[in-house]
Amino acid sequence: MEKDTIAAISTPIGEGAIAIVRLSGPDAVEIANTLFDGNDDLTKVDSHTIHYGKIIDPTTKEVAEEVMITVMRGPRTFTREDVVEINCHGGLASVNRLLELVLFEGARLAEPGEFTKRAFLNGRIDLSQAEAVMDLIRAKTDKAMNVALKQMDGRLSKLIQNLRQELLETVAHVEVNIDYPEYDDVEEMSNQMMISKTKQVYSEIERLLQMAKQGKILREGLATAIIGRPNVGKSSLLNALVHENKAIVTEIPGTTRDVIEEYVNIRGVPLRLVDTAGIRETEDIVEKIGVDKSRQVLKESDLILLVLNYGDELTKEDMHLFEAVEGLEVIVIVNKTDLNQKIDLDKVKQLAGQRSIITTAIIEEQGIDELEDAISHTFFAGELDAGDLTYVSNVRHIQLLKQSLQSLDDAMIGIEEGMPIDLVQIDVTRTWELLGEIIGDTVQESLIDQLFSQFCLGK
Ligand code: GDP
Ligand code: ZN
Repeated sequence: MEKDTIAAISTPIGEGAIAIVRLSGPDAVEIANTLFDGNDDLTKVDSHTIHYGKIIDPTTKEVAEEVMITVMRGPRTFTREDVVEINCHGGLASVNRLLELVLFEGARLAEPGEFTKRAFLNGRIDLSQAEAVMDLIRAKTDKAMNVALKQMDGRLSKLIQNLRQELLETVAHVEVNIDYPEYDDVEEMSNQMMISKTKQVYSEIERLLQMAKQGKILREGLATAIIGRPNVGKSSLLNALVHENKAIVTEIPGTTRDVIEEYVNIRGVPLRLVDTAGIRETEDIVEKIGVDKSRQVLKESDLILLVLNYGDELTKEDMHLFEAVEGLEVIVIVNKTDLNQKIDLDKVKQLAGQRSIITTAIIEEQGIDELEDAISHTFFAGELDAGDLTYVSNVRHIQLLKQSLQSLDDAMIGIEEGMPIDLVQIDVTRTWELLGEIIGDTVQESLIDQLFSQFCLGK
């Protein structure tokens, strides 16, 4: 347990009118009680109770704030320490003042994520859950928040633990094989089992990585570029998307720079529209910098909205744009359907291939809904609402999953090439360790310890 008491402003997610100063640590109750003027002595009240009263500034003896104070004694708290939450309904100035007062009384200003860190250190949550909390703090939309909440629930941890168990059993079988080589068919069985288990775990990890892509989008927003020839309606489209949907401005506190980002929430998908100024510059992007270079720029986008003019014939520039976005996620928009048709729609279909084509008359607010449907379907084709899927949304986890996949791949190749099974086992063990790092487990327990405790393979 930590010795000092930390404090921070922790305004609830959803940002209501209430602001909260939260304290955690051995002196949390004492500090709050020193400042508190009410009917109760907070050091004597029952745990998990709320108390109304006033906060008195100890230097001026004046009433600083009207508050509700929640007293929660460890270990039944998030950090497992004594936790006090001081609720006040004032704005930023009053909550800041409140924070100053508790710091004055001996609390220390918490570092970003320190409450979560304590929860982890005190065994309340595992590493992936701790990271989920951090994601939750940064979550941009409701969907993103659900993902983080699920992970915090320990769903990812459970899934990873299951995969590790599968690998563990495989290794155990191989151990038996090595120990009892006199049984002839054991080796063949080991190989069979190794192949089918590694394949199974491999595809599970692949699935997680696929969802990680969606998780990233939810967390960071879908980097979206609007491209097209001059005058096709790119700026109009941007404005329509921003106006129909509340643009979300998020401030992420606790980062070194105070990041302010603008997002448009399309059916729960946070769209990060590549900066408005940039869009104007992309108008002649292909002309100016050539197909290769512009491809590079576009490759950094998760989604490209390619706008064409219904009232105009397809031009060479349009063709160039199609070339430039080859292999990327694209929605084709044929705008200005209120004009007389000059565009060859068959040709557009041919160029678009499998991609969605949406017709719009942005000036008359036609087709925007269909476009928004297309955007949300492109990325979340039903999957995200499935409810009980586990999502990975953390860079460290993704890295480890990719490495796991790689070492499983090595194992599979080894089996196919008839490598000695104890060599193949090294790769499987490595995968087990990598997966363990996701939930912060490998450091404490070695695979051998696990084998001994679970399978009693005493040698
Ligand atoms: P950009 O150069 O691609 O950004 O195109 P703008 O958004 O600036 O639009 C160019 C012109 O087309 C403006 O005068 C718009 O009002 C007009 N415009 C945009 N959408 C439509 C549409 O659906 N129909 C018609 N007739 N005009 C449109
Ligand atoms: Zn424009």
